[in-house]
Amino acid sequence: MACVLVTGCSSGIGLETALVLARAGHTVYATLRNPDRGNSLRQRAGKEKLPVSIVQLDVDSDESVAGAIAAIRSEAGFIDVLVNNAGIERTGSIEELPWEAFRATMETNYFGALRCIRACVPEMRKRRSGCIINVSSVSGRIACSPMSPYTASKFALEAVSEALAQELKPLNIRVAIVEPGIITTPMAERIAESENESAYPHVRRFSRMFDAALAQPRPPSVVAEIIRNIVESGTWQLRHTAGPDAEPFLAWRKSMTDEQWVEWGALDDDAWHERVLADFGLDTRPKAEEKV
Ligand code: NAP
Repeated sequence: MACVLVTGCSSGIGLETALVLARAGHTVYATLRNPDRGNSLRQRAGKEKLPVSIVQLDVDSDESVAGAIAAIRSEAGFIDVLVNNAGIERTGSIEELPWEAFRATMETNYFGALRCIRACVPEMRKRRSGCIINVSSVSGRIACSPMSPYTASKFALEAVSEALAQELKPLNIRVAIVEPGIITTPMAERIAESENESAYPHVRRFSRMFDAALAQPRPPSVVAEIIRNIVESGTWQLRHTAGPDAEPFLAWRKSMTDEQWVEWGALDDDAWHERVLADFGLDTRPKAEEKV
């Protein structure tokens, strides 16, 4: 059984991952930037009598990461597995989004993961054992509006993960990238509900796409089970897609040239909705009463 640190466990994929791993008998340190947001995790773990320890850890802060990891080490001895799950999203056009959106997504999704990796690797290297699981996204391989700050941060996370895997393989430390598609979590629900006054159509379209996708069940436990499998199987496979639409999304993008991909994103609204329906089976078209 492994000692596992998971970041971002207040909701969604992180919360489910903490529960799934604890149910399987692993020692879980579920970390949250704000432990006041841990009630759902506390209640669910308590109900099942799962030994989940909640620790404050803000991936944006050097001090918080160092303090949390030192505290876990002093209690558990060592961390076998690091799951970099914490993440944020910002949607909008490149012209209109504030700088904060680009900086914040990079800080949490890329530098935050890197901060935790750099804090855990020295001990893993000494022990010649460990596993680092980075929760990326299909957006780590597909770039499109209105997700540019998010996709940029996930592309960066994937790039550093590949390089890290090369560095750590000789040291017997595994690195895995998990790429979920659309999963029912507060993050996906926020994207489905997002609205803004924009000169560009993409936020509105993605809100419809997420809304249509979330009509089907896509529980975060699907991703948590993939993470559990990576921990327990000892696999050296680098990339792991997760959720019902992850492979189809990647295959869809792969079926187009770069120029066709740009054309798709540049279509007018009606043509875009028809393409998403024809190619992907998602009905994103506005209802008759919504049309002005
Ligand atoms: P979520 O429910 O919004 O969970 C995100 C978690 O990250 C929350 O616990 C949040 O804490 C935490 N977090 C944010 N900033 C943090 C920070 N600075 N330090 C520590 N924790 C922080 O969303 P989710 O969908 O489960 O997202 C989990 C991961 O899956 C993310 O990396 C996301 O990019 C990835 N993902 C999600 C989807 C999807 O469709 N849902 C698809 C692909 C990839 P607070 O409660 O304090 O905000």
